Amino acid sequence: MDYKELFTKLYSDKCFHNFCNMVDQLKREENKIELPCDTALLLIAANVDYIKGNENIDAIHMLVKNYLNPNGRSISKNTPFYDYFVIANIILIAMDNKKYFEDDKFIQLPLDFTVSANSICKFDTCSCGYKPKIIFSSFINSLTGKAMCKKCGLSVKKMFVHETSFFDKSDNGEIYENLEEGIKKLADSWNKEVAKGESILHRTMRELLSYDAEVCVDPILYDLHQKLYSYMVDNNIYKKPNYWNERGYWETATDKMMECGEAVKLVEYYLWENMPNRIAD
Ligand SMILES: [Zn+2]
Repeated sequence: MDYKELFTKLYSDKCFHNFCNMVDQLKREENKIELPCDTALLLIAANVDYIKGNENIDAIHMLVKNYLNPNGRSISKNTPFYDYFVIANIILIAMDNKKYFEDDKFIQLPLDFTVSANSICKFDTCSCGYKPKIIFSSFINSLTGKAMCKKCGLSVKKMFVHETSFFDKSDNGEIYENLEEGIKKLADSWNKEVAKGESILHRTMRELLSYDAEVCVDPILYDLHQKLYSYMVDNNIYKKPNYWNERGYWETATDKMMECGEAVKLVEYYLWENMPNRIAD
């Protein structure tokens, strides 16, 4: 049985839900309840048979954790076991989603989650008229969900695994989002983004201007960002931000820059060079 089969089998299985609730209950009661036999039987039936005979919840958690998450990172105690199981499993499915080439090299493809995501909630049609794709991509132990339009490039992202807050001293480890809640949040930010009705030119100008050189390393984008940014500062079109993430700064800067013919031309040229790959009207 592979991860995908395991996932399909357990995702909406009532018994497995009960099992997960019991795990959480045991966790809350600090491992003192013994695991009833029928739960062990359920796990055996589900092929998670490493668990057979184990009555200590920490051991169970470790085993299922090892089964799903070879690096065995610590999990926030506020993450229900079911949420952890679902997300850890999707990470493994996403990691397996590879395309191999003749010389045994491969690339990891994003996991298309569009159909399932649309069965959870509504993703509005993009302002350009295309339906968004919902994809998952995984890197080491992280999982990022993305709603994106293949035609105009509009996209929003959401992390499904993230660290507990630095300030929360009562908890540590990684938080695993509930899949459905996470998809709903992703749909929310996508629908809000679409509702803004920002033009492709305006959005590209904004993204290029605020391009983060620390995070992104595309030399073409970085070069263009530098050109636009120096143009803005040197010509006193808009002041430098007082601090790096000043609220509303890039929106105002973009509006000002959209009034400058030369800057707009740079962005238009970039779009003209980079848009032919996208779906034609
Ligand atoms: Zn679009």
